[in-house]
Amino acid sequence: MIETRILKNPTAEDFSVAGDLIREGKLVAFPTETVYGLGADGFNAKACDKIFAVKERPADNPLIEHVCSLEMVDRVAREIPLAAEKLFAAFSPGPLTLILKKRPEIPSEVTAGLDTVGVRFPDHDFARAFIKAADTPIAAPSANISGRPSPTTAQAVFEDLHNKIPMIIDGGDCNFGLESTIVDCTSEIPTILRPGAITREMLVEILGEVQIDSALKDSDAVPKAPGMKYRHYAPRAALKLFNQDSLDEVIFTVKNFNRVGLLASSETLEKIPAKISFNYGSRHDLRSIAANLYEGLRFFDDQEVDLIFAEETVETGLGFAIMNRLRKASSNDF
Ligand code: AMP
Ligand code: MG
Repeated sequence: MIETRILKNPTAEDFSVAGDLIREGKLVAFPTETVYGLGADGFNAKACDKIFAVKERPADNPLIEHVCSLEMVDRVAREIPLAAEKLFAAFSPGPLTLILKKRPEIPSEVTAGLDTVGVRFPDHDFARAFIKAADTPIAAPSANISGRPSPTTAQAVFEDLHNKIPMIIDGGDCNFGLESTIVDCTSEIPTILRPGAITREMLVEILGEVQIDSALKDSDAVPKAPGMKYRHYAPRAALKLFNQDSLDEVIFTVKNFNRVGLLASSETLEKIPAKISFNYGSRHDLRSIAANLYEGLRFFDDQEVDLIFAEETVETGLGFAIMNRLRKASSNDF
């Protein structure tokens, strides 16, 4: 058992202690603008193995290498195609992961045996100070137990990983609350493997043309991002999606059964007074819905409900990423 220290208001000295832990092959959880990451030295195979053990993560699901400058990208990628250069210039630092050809020094544990590597330059002062102090790319997935909603607060990381890792850097609430957009830049036309806060519309503006991995449109297709094949983000209770057309069923169920949770917009919650509810924000504010989504799912786990009704959003812009996560959390899809 390892005692877990939570660093609140970290100082320069704290970051240097965190960097030392990484160089010793240990794990440190850190905040980013998307979700909290569970980091290890991105060149240390044994340290990266620990990530899989601690998270109970399937070995075929690769990690993302986090860098704190564009120069550092060269330490992990052996080729940067024009599309990647344009995307880094437009959106870095930011909630975007690019899939590039990997350098041979990257351990196969990080990339799950693939010839490519995910690279991300997070837009968070603490993340950057931490990577800088470690002086190495940091391999990290989300800092949750596999299959749980990703953590967007230090408290959520602590719930899942206390006594398993030595340190959590507390950066408060994550700004976006959904994992990064993943774009494969090794395919002829860049391909979105996972939707996120850098939307398809924003990518098209820079690149002209982008594809969407067929698995994002057809649940029978095999996803190119190995992690997207799992029933991720799963709350403990069954989760059912609803929209304004199916409101009657929701009202009936909430009225007649006790342990039913309602994850919905403030507008809908005004119409349905549910006993156990989580307000994810206004229907018109997708940023707020994205930022609150995983805390909502974790809230219902604590409430021990049998069924969660979750309100759908539009499918455009950030709504594409929100609906992708909601579908993955729901029991009747994927
Ligand atoms: P997480 O940060 O927990 O969301 O996990 C990292 C995500 O990045 C997973 O969905 C992985 O499948 C994906 N990923 C990492 N490296 C690659 C790669 N080389 N090719 C495709 N997907 C990747
Ligand atoms: Mg994850």
